Amino acid sequence: MAVAPGIAEGKVLIHQQEEEALPFRDLQESELDAEVARFEAALFATRGELKALQERLAQSPAAGDAGIFDAHLLVLEDPSLIEEVFRLIRKERHNAEFVFHSVSQKFIRTLASIDDPYLRERAIDLEDVTRRVLRHLLGKSGQRLGGHDRSHIIVADELTPSDTATLNRDNVAGFVTEKGSKTSHTAIMARALGIPAIVGLENITSRLENGCTILMDGYSGKIFLNPSPETRAGYQSLAEQKEHVDEGLEDLRELDPVTWDGRRITLAANIEIPEELDEVAASGAEGIGLYRTEFLYFNRTVPPDEEEQYAVYRQVAERVAPHPVIIRTLDIGGDKPTECLDLGHEENPFLGCRAIRFCLRHPEIFKTQLRAILRAGIHGNIKMMFPMISGLEELLHAKALLAEAASELRDAGTPFREDVELGLMIEVPSAAIMAGMLAREVKFFSIGTNDLLQYLMAVDRGNERIAHLHDPANPAVVRILKSVVDAAHEAGIWVGVCGELAGDLEFTPLLLGLGIDELSTGAAMVPRIKKAIRSLDMEACRQIVGHALSGDRAAEIYARTTGLARTRYPDLF
Ligand code: PEP
Ligand code: MG
Repeated sequence: MAVAPGIAEGKVLIHQQEEEALPFRDLQESELDAEVARFEAALFATRGELKALQERLAQSPAAGDAGIFDAHLLVLEDPSLIEEVFRLIRKERHNAEFVFHSVSQKFIRTLASIDDPYLRERAIDLEDVTRRVLRHLLGKSGQRLGGHDRSHIIVADELTPSDTATLNRDNVAGFVTEKGSKTSHTAIMARALGIPAIVGLENITSRLENGCTILMDGYSGKIFLNPSPETRAGYQSLAEQKEHVDEGLEDLRELDPVTWDGRRITLAANIEIPEELDEVAASGAEGIGLYRTEFLYFNRTVPPDEEEQYAVYRQVAERVAPHPVIIRTLDIGGDKPTECLDLGHEENPFLGCRAIRFCLRHPEIFKTQLRAILRAGIHGNIKMMFPMISGLEELLHAKALLAEAASELRDAGTPFREDVELGLMIEVPSAAIMAGMLAREVKFFSIGTNDLLQYLMAVDRGNERIAHLHDPANPAVVRILKSVVDAAHEAGIWVGVCGELAGDLEFTPLLLGLGIDELSTGAAMVPRIKKAIRSLDMEACRQIVGHALSGDRAAEIYARTTGLARTRYPDLF
């Protein structure tokens, strides 16, 4: 799986996670206080080390990812872990290394066994922190990966976020790992640092040897051992071509996303955390089309209060002004659990009490966020939208709570914006069917295609075995999207797409043909989508939709949209 683009050639450097030989000692009663103090000192030193790493990262191009270490710092403060170690040192009378290692392994095993990508990431965080604390206890701190020049490609079973934090474009050419996914911290970091990366290559550490030469293709996920002169030459020209395309895209920053024949689309960016705003500004996006606020609720034990949320939303609004920021209210649940809110156990979390359903059941949590958004509204161009609305009653219920939040602020004399524009995410088929009625209650629609396709075709969006069914070219998808766009336009409101489809170059012709007014996607894709829009004309795009509505099958719909895309902007593929 290619997770960070780019091409690199270099000598293999196999990175083994050093297995510390753990000392084991029985202690006397008189030694226990000193042992507890030694453990406390190691925690303190690890905290200092993480803070220093975090600061270093904050000044690098990967500044947005410095927050990763917040999760590590939280581990050091987790009372269930730390106090258990204190307790066991005294009870079992063993040395701190041994006790800490066994307690943390127990936690890691539990986290790693739960079938949840988020919790598995936490297990990696815990493993990473454990290694650091042990190094301090053993007096071996400060060992680092990196310090190599660009002639090496790191090959590892797995790299932890702190491993990758010690890497930069000058000391490594690329990296290849056995474990990991597109959303793992390591992949996020590689993209942020601009280092090509490939993950998921089984047994690669035992199939390569230190010092052998490989060429890696971070676009397709291939590696070549001892590449031939022809392979090299082929990739050399591909690398030059990609560089040329990227340079060309920079010239587009100040230009409008407009088709040949004058149709102007709004092109915005999606963000999860405010640290992404630099990249958004550089991309030329016209504001934020989706701010996934649930990320503010991750990696913590207490949910953010009104003041904290107000400060964050205000900061985002001020940075993005005069462009709009569309704040999506809390979309927790499904594949996005958090420790700070008790979601309870559910058999089918994607069909369970997630997003707006959770908020309507917990009006105080919801209204805290709504008050923060309304207050931040005076500092910029804020709009808000509700996720996962399934029908009119739910929308009216949410609007009633919004009115309550406003009146609470009014009664308290707290300044806020009365007319924050309200929109609705269309991601449940029943809402799509009732779009005409719902459109009378809001100012805009934003279609969440990730979930809409999942619920329309009963395909778990995270299950790789049925991923082929999560197909935007399915004629049922085209029909439902067309009916939503028509319903919105008849009611005089605009409609955008903020799911991953908005950043899929193969489908830009189809989306334009449907009459979509706004596309919102990850900042890295914004310049590419702009180029796609500027290479298309509405007539050709509408024809694709015409054929799709009059009987094309999925394969034909796909062939037409990708065919037009590949003719008009072949260099982007
Ligand atoms: C979607 O469902 O398409 C969407 C944008 O929301 P999320 O991916 O956060 O569920
Ligand atoms: Mg969604």
